[in-house]
Amino acid sequence: MTLVVNARLNNTKRVAGDVLPLFFLFAILLISCTRQAERSQWVFSGPTMGTSWSVKIITDSLQSDTSRQTIETGITSQLEQIDSLLSTYRPDSELMEFNRERSLKWVDVSSSFYTVLEQAQEISQLSNGAFDVTVSPLVNLWGFGPELGKDTIPDAGVITQLLKQTGYQNLELDTEQQRIRKRIPELSVDLSSIAKGFAVDQVALSLEKLGVKEYLVEIGGELRAKGRNAANQAWRVGIETPTLQLQSVYKAIQLVDEGIATSGDYRNFYDIDGQRYSHTIDPETGYPVKHDLASVTVLAKSTMIADAWATALSVMGADKGYTLANQLQLPVLFIIRTGDKYTDKATSAFIRRKS
Ligand code: FAD
Repeated sequence: MTLVVNARLNNTKRVAGDVLPLFFLFAILLISCTRQAERSQWVFSGPTMGTSWSVKIITDSLQSDTSRQTIETGITSQLEQIDSLLSTYRPDSELMEFNRERSLKWVDVSSSFYTVLEQAQEISQLSNGAFDVTVSPLVNLWGFGPELGKDTIPDAGVITQLLKQTGYQNLELDTEQQRIRKRIPELSVDLSSIAKGFAVDQVALSLEKLGVKEYLVEIGGELRAKGRNAANQAWRVGIETPTLQLQSVYKAIQLVDEGIATSGDYRNFYDIDGQRYSHTIDPETGYPVKHDLASVTVLAKSTMIADAWATALSVMGADKGYTLANQLQLPVLFIIRTGDKYTDKATSAFIRRKS
């Protein structure tokens, strides 16, 4: 009856160290330089957050005493720190400690946790609740959290009950004292839709502090670039055709000092009785979104913002999402699936960009 199509994520993502295949399976593809390298670069990669990371830096601007080891250690310790704070996959993370809290008292939190929640709440408001990190119980119920999914549609009564434990308005933030509190005891948060983007930004900023002026940082297919590549050209990436069948570039674009993120329905989903149930949950209904939107790619100054908007607009769908993205002047490419054909809709800000 049920075909679990997301074999890649369930089998590969969760196996520590076994991350290489994922380099070929991201929604945004790294495109190699067409010209020969003119400048020297260092390339780093490794596993993190159930996926992989990779970083390219142009070494021209580095001070002579900055070693490869310093850069690599800086990246890995930064990623480890973010993982230890924001993961729903680690019972000892700061986030999971907050999720287990049942009182309504204020909780002091790290600046990383606070920064991501603050950004999440802003996008929740702007998207009228389409983006909502408190959908966590429903993400888990549908099998898209740390526990593997079951092969049945959850009971409608359970969905209704769990919906009562959600709602971004039930999470209060105190900007002055950088603390947070629940307005209902069962509230919990899941930052999978935004924290990878945050991590990309943090790695980029730490590279800059080490004197790196030109780089490409990528975690699980969310990227941020600065400067030019080794061939002295703008960094170029490819937005993937949203299909599992054959990996190909749907559209190539330049990245100029900005971040990019894609959310889609074609990797992380279950197929139950011929119906696709993707990992993007509509916070209003508690069900995975059901529409013809196959992927949403967003560009922004920060990858955290791009990451969150990609999920928000995926929930909203190609029509409402397109209208809002245009109003907010976000550069966004929506790829829409009709049968096995794809069409796209780009916002004005996306069209104005150089490809
Ligand atoms: P995105 O489109 O960026 O996000 C989709 C996710 O957002 C959903 O899976 C769900 O969790 C959430 N979501 C769904 N609907 C909404 C909504 N309406 N509003 C807001 N959020 C929503 N995976 C592992 O397998 N093992 C790990 O050890 C692991 N550790 C992680 C640690 C951290 C700190 C983070 C951030 C993630 C970790 N992950 C781990 C998860 C994983 O790598 C991805 O982040 C996750 O699969 C979603 O990323 P995506 O780019 O596929 O989807």
